Amino acid sequence: MRLVLVGPPGAGKGTQAQFISAHFAIPHISTGDIFRANLSAGTPLGLEAKAYMDKGDLVPDSLTTAMVKDRLLQGDVATGFLLDGYPRTTGQAAALDEILREIKTPLDVVLEMQADEDEIVTRLLARGRSDDSEEVIRHRLKVYVEQTAPIISYYRNAGILQSINGLGAVAEVTERAIAALTR
Ligand code: AMP
Repeated sequence: MRLVLVGPPGAGKGTQAQFISAHFAIPHISTGDIFRANLSAGTPLGLEAKAYMDKGDLVPDSLTTAMVKDRLLQGDVATGFLLDGYPRTTGQAAALDEILREIKTPLDVVLEMQADEDEIVTRLLARGRSDDSEEVIRHRLKVYVEQTAPIISYYRNAGILQSINGLGAVAEVTERAIAALTR
């Protein structure tokens, strides 16, 4: 199973990604987690990403795609993978297609988690991460609508999009996700 999880910040992607990747026994690859790990380790990549992350802006495609390519060339993705938080722009979606063509493993499915804006802001404010001030949250949502949402129609046109309602109890949403992925 090779899948991408897409949805606005606060839709519960990270939480669901853990359950879904355990269910299918595939690695969970979160670009946000990789950036945060680099940040705490003080690597050059982490330092470069920090300014964008603090503002709620996207890290440039070139940096992000190089990092993902590196990860997708590791041996453990042979059984599949769950990408969480990548791609986030149409440029990244095209780059991902290119990487997957090179390693001859097309995507099986893109799962969209839907959630409304008020619920998202409430959830993110409760999470309390350092990039979760209300101003940065609103900016991340704007970035999502402008830069990430267009990839949804890209994958719909490719015939591999599944969408689920991301609201409700965690276990309920996991059930919906797994049902959509095994449809
Ligand atoms: P996340 O944990 O997915 O909410 O990501 C946290 C932050 O990391 C985002 O606000 C971006 O600054 C950066 N980031 C994560 N994934 C990407 C991506 N695919 N492209 C660009 N920036 C990203």
